[in-house]
Amino acid sequence: MSIITPSLLLDHMRCVHKVWRDNYGPKAEFVDEANPFLKLLWDRGIQHEADVVAGFGFEYVDCGKGTESERIAQTNAALAARVEFIYQGTLAHGNLFGIPDLLQFIDGEYVPIEIKSGSAGEGGDDISDGKPKKEYGVQLALYADILNKKGLNSSRRAFVIDKTGERVEYFLDAPMGARTPETMWELYQRIRADVEAALRDELQNDPAMCGSCKDCGWYASCKNWAKENDDLTQLFYVGRTARDTIRRDLDSSRIDDLIANDVDAIVAQKKVDKAFLKGIGESTLTKMIARGRLLKSEGDPVMYDRFDFPVVGTELFFDIETDPTRILSICRVLGPRQRGRAV
Ligand code: SF4
Repeated sequence: MSIITPSLLLDHMRCVHKVWRDNYGPKAEFVDEANPFLKLLWDRGIQHEADVVAGFGFEYVDCGKGTESERIAQTNAALAARVEFIYQGTLAHGNLFGIPDLLQFIDGEYVPIEIKSGSAGEGGDDISDGKPKKEYGVQLALYADILNKKGLNSSRRAFVIDKTGERVEYFLDAPMGARTPETMWELYQRIRADVEAALRDELQNDPAMCGSCKDCGWYASCKNWAKENDDLTQLFYVGRTARDTIRRDLDSSRIDDLIANDVDAIVAQKKVDKAFLKGIGESTLTKMIARGRLLKSEGDPVMYDRFDFPVVGTELFFDIETDPTRILSICRVLGPRQRGRAV
């Protein structure tokens, strides 16, 4: 029986190929190398959690010590005793497993609470406009599911304590947005079903180079695959969705095949067939083909408009990075000697 954990669900949300590759991929090609920048971010997240816990101001039972089976037993005992606050409780039921930061007994049931060092919602703390973070919501839904199966949560209430220390409720049964009728609970079930299928080797798909790849142990392996297959996701801004659409409608996802196409003929076909290359407009297609030709020419980089940097006394360069612990972008300041790597 394959165990479903929050990290498996999050892996799948970042890359729908990863869970399958972790289990059935060429293991010799996996590089298990800690990224020091990521480690710094995770350490900061752990420190934030410790700071929040230190300021709790209420009694709690800490179930975070001991072996896994000891922690499960401690948690089950605390749940049975209806302890009001349980910190780092280990929840397990069937093939589901998770360790919520906090469990609180409210109105006759246990609700999961996650402590996050980021904001509670996409683009800010306010999720009243219906923009909860999917990564947080799916994680909470897994905990609520385990609690529900244990007969300890029927309302699917769940909360995030965000970077400011504020407690924000996540409504798992509400549509995720005005244009997104799917609820967080439905998203969780869909992702869980996909992960279970991938673990059974019943859901297979190709790698697709994306922003998450550089932090993944399969980066070199997938990059080689993309090169050998002349895959379109090697091109800047061409992701899995566009690649798969082109493969379906043009019967190939090779760069050579795409750049051999007549853009005018494709655009003409799009005008008479709205479903053809749906979601890929003329300008996107033109850029893809230009980038593909550039890659194949192995020529010098192209600058369409000349830009001269001003001469100043002090130069600062910014490198934009993704912080996966906060799911927002931050900047790192690079020294002048790293100028060539700044983007
Ligand atoms: S390297 Fe990229 S495509 Fe490959 S498994 Fe990792 S995230 Fe997915």
